[in-house]
Amino acid sequence: MKKEVAFTCELPNGIHARPANHLEAVCSKFNSDITLKNLRNGNEGSAKSVLSLVGTDTLLNDPCSLIIEGDDAESAFETLAKYIQEEFPHCDEALEVMEQGDVLLPQSLMHHNPNLVHAKRLSTGIAKGKLVRYTDVELSLFNDAESDMSFAQAKQAVTETLLAKAETANGQEKEIINAHLGILKDEALNSQVMDAVSQGKTLARGILTAVASITETLLQSSSDYLKERVLDIKDIALQLLITAHPHMNVSTEFTLTEASIVIANDLTPSQFLGLDRAHLQGLILTQAGSTSHTVILARAFNIPAVSGVSIDQCASQEGELVYVDGGLGVVALEASQDVATYFERAIWLAEQKAKVESEFVNDAAQTKDGKHIEIAANIACTVEAEPAFAKGAEGVGLFRTEMLFMDRATAPDEDEQFNAYKAVLEAAEGKAVIIRTMDIGGDKPIDYLNLPHEHNPFLGYRAVRIYPQFIALFHTQIRAILRAAPFGHTKVMIPMIQSIEEIRWVKEQIATVKAVMDSEGVAYGDIELGIMVEIPSVAFIMDQFCKEVDFFSIGSNDMTQYLLAVDRDNDNVAKLYNSLAPSFLRLLKAVVEGAHEHGKWVGLCGELGANKKVLPLLVGAGLDELSMAAPSIAPTKAALRQFDSEQCRDLFAQACDCATIADVEALLDAFSKAQEDKPLLATECVLLDCEFNSKEEAIQTLVGNLGIRGRTHLVSELEADIWAREAVFSTGLGNGFAIPHTKSDNIAHSSISIARLKKPVRWSEDEDGDAEFVIMLTLNKDQGDQHMRIFSGLARKLIHENFRNTLKSMPTEDEVIAFLKSELAL
Ligand code: PEP
Ligand code: MG
Repeated sequence: MKKEVAFTCELPNGIHARPANHLEAVCSKFNSDITLKNLRNGNEGSAKSVLSLVGTDTLLNDPCSLIIEGDDAESAFETLAKYIQEEFPHCDEALEVMEQGDVLLPQSLMHHNPNLVHAKRLSTGIAKGKLVRYTDVELSLFNDAESDMSFAQAKQAVTETLLAKAETANGQEKEIINAHLGILKDEALNSQVMDAVSQGKTLARGILTAVASITETLLQSSSDYLKERVLDIKDIALQLLITAHPHMNVSTEFTLTEASIVIANDLTPSQFLGLDRAHLQGLILTQAGSTSHTVILARAFNIPAVSGVSIDQCASQEGELVYVDGGLGVVALEASQDVATYFERAIWLAEQKAKVESEFVNDAAQTKDGKHIEIAANIACTVEAEPAFAKGAEGVGLFRTEMLFMDRATAPDEDEQFNAYKAVLEAAEGKAVIIRTMDIGGDKPIDYLNLPHEHNPFLGYRAVRIYPQFIALFHTQIRAILRAAPFGHTKVMIPMIQSIEEIRWVKEQIATVKAVMDSEGVAYGDIELGIMVEIPSVAFIMDQFCKEVDFFSIGSNDMTQYLLAVDRDNDNVAKLYNSLAPSFLRLLKAVVEGAHEHGKWVGLCGELGANKKVLPLLVGAGLDELSMAAPSIAPTKAALRQFDSEQCRDLFAQACDCATIADVEALLDAFSKAQEDKPLLATECVLLDCEFNSKEEAIQTLVGNLGIRGRTHLVSELEADIWAREAVFSTGLGNGFAIPHTKSDNIAHSSISIARLKKPVRWSEDEDGDAEFVIMLTLNKDQGDQHMRIFSGLARKLIHENFRNTLKSMPTEDEVIAFLKSELAL
C-alpha cells in the first residue's frame, strides 16, 4: 500500500538536525519505507535517517511530501498526517542568531587608529590573550589505516564515552552530545559505512567515504545552518577513527598554557570542549556561522567569538597579545598603548556591569519598603534547575513535568522520574520546588497516549481530566514525587482543577499510592498539595478550596483566556487577550484575598509574572510569589526595589476600579513615569581618583558607566553625541575643568557625571588645555533648555577659585553631590 502526506515546511530554519530527529523518531515506529521528497529541489531521503532528512535541504516554505510504502502504511499515514500538521511545525525553537546589522564603533577607540580586523559577531564579550593557532588532526591521516576493531565495537566505545560525558554535562553541552549520539545511530551513516566494509574496504575507508558523501550533500545545501552540520559529522568520524585505531596513538589533545585567543579554520564541538577553559579567553574562526554547535557552546560558556577572519589575516600575530570584541565584531592586532588602554578599560567596564547585575542575583526579592515577594523560576527539565538558582531563583515556582513525557515513544518510568525530581530538589538546596503533575492533552499531545483529536482542545480532555483514564501513569508520577520528597521542600501542584470533586479525587489517589508504598515498605517524604488557578470557577469557592489544599498558583496564561473566552492561539481574537482587563484584575484580587483570608499561600506562574510594566500591580495584589523564566529573575528583583508596596496597593485598588484596559494602562504609565526618573545627580555617576590616560578614556568611562547604571542602552551612540559636540569646540574650560555635554535622544535618564582624575589629561590644544576634573552633562530632549541652564550655571561657578578648589578636594562622592546640588540649586 502507498500513501502520501503533502505539506509545506513551516520550520524557520528548515529541516536541520533537531526537527529531523523528531521526524525520524516518529517514522521509525513503522515498518513501511518512508521517504521525504522535497518538491522544490527534487531531493529525496529516507525519513528514518536524520542525515538523509537533513540532506534533502528542506527550507522554510518548501513544498514536501512524505511517501509511505509498506504493510502498515495506513496507520503510519494517520499518525504522520496528524504529526505533520500539529507537532512538526513547533518542534524547533528559534535559533539565537546575533544581529549582524552595522555596529557603531566607539570613538574612544577609533581616535587611536586601531589595526582592526572586522569580523562576524558570534558571541559577545571582550577577550584578551596570546593568539594561538589550533592545529587539527586531519581525517586523511587514517587513509591507509588498518583498524583494530569492528565498526560495531568502535561505535559502542564512542557511544559509551559520549554517554559518560552526558552524565556530567548541562544545558547546551548535553544537547549537543545528544545530537552526536543521534548521528552515531543514523541509518545513512551506518548503511554507507557497512556497505563500504562489505565491499572489502577498510573500516577507515568506509568511514571516510561515508563522511565525504554526507558532507558533500550538506555543503550543497542553500542553508548555512545545514552546511554548519558538517563539523558535527567530522567530529563523530574523527572520534570513531581514533577509537578504532588505538595503535596509531592519535591524540586530539591541544594544550593551552596561558590566557589565549584560539584561531582556527573551524573547530568541532568536541575540539572546543577539549580546550582548557581556564586559559581559553576567545575564539576567532574562519568558517563558523552563528548557529554552529561550537558557537552555541562558546555562548553557553561566555567565551567571546567572531568568525569570517582568515588565518592569514592574523598569521603575523601568532604568539602576540590580541584583543577580540565579540560585541563589536573586531579583532585588534598590534594594539598600541592607547588601543590597549581602550580595551583594558572596556574589560573593566564589563566587569563592573557584571558586578552590578550580580548584586541583584543574590539579593532577597523585596520592595524598597522591605516587603518580600518570592521570585522563583519556571523550569521544564532538570538541567534548567541549577542555572536558574545561579540566576537568583528563590525557589522553583513551576516545574512543568509534562516535558518529561513529550518527544519520546513511551512514558518515563518511576526511576527516571524519581531521578529527575530528586535532581531538581537537590539543586534547590532546601528552597521550595513546586512540581506540577503532567499537564498533558489539549495543546500538549503525547503520541503514545493516543488521545482523541479535539476541536476545542483548551476546553477539552487534558491535565487532571485524563488522569482517571491513565491512572497507572498518574500513580507512577505521584510515587516518584513521594519518593523524591525527602530530598527537599516538595510541593505538588495539580493543573486545570475546576471543582472540589476533582481535588478530592486526587487526594484519594495520593492516599492510595501512599498505602501501597507503606505496604511495600518504600520510604517517602512529606509534600504540600496545591492547585493551579487557571479556571475562573475556582475563584468563587476559594473558601472551599482552602479546606482542601495547602497553596495556590495562578496560571495567568490560561486564566486570562478562560475568563475572557479568548483562544490565545487564534489571531482573529488575539487583541482581546489582555490580562490588564479590569475583570481579570478583580479575579486576581478575589483569588489572592480568598487564599489569604484562610492563611494560604498564593503565587503566580504565568507569563504575566515577568512583565515589568505589570509588576507594580502584581505587588499591589499581594501575591506571595512570582515565578518566571530564569533570565527575568535578576531584572525583576532589581525592578522590585524601586517600588513602595503601599503605593502598589493603592495602584492595584485604583486599577480594579477602572472601566477599561486603556484606563488601566494610563494608570500604569503615570505610575511608571513617577517611579522611573533617576536623579540628575547621584553618587553612582561620581568617579573619584580616576587613573585616565587620555580624554578618550575619560569619556569612554563616564559614558560606559551610564550604561552600567541603566541610564542609557545606547552607549556608543551617546558617546558619538558627546564627541560630535567636541568636534565643534572643545569643552575644556581652563583651570583643569572640562564640561563635555550633549542634549540627546540616546540618554534615557538625564545625568550629570563626574570624574576627578589623579593626573590631568590633554583636553584641548589651548595653552590651558589640560583637564583633571570632568563634569559631563547628558540630558535628554524632554528637559527643554535645562541643558544650557546647567551648563551656563556651572561655567559661572567655575570662574571662582573657591568653588574649583572645594570640588577638587571633596573627600567623598556624597559630599560632591551635596555640594553641587546646593551650588547649582538642583
Ligand atoms: C498558565 O496557564 O499560566 C501556566 C503557567 O500553565 P501553562 O503555561 O503550562 O499552561
Ligand atoms: Mg496553564
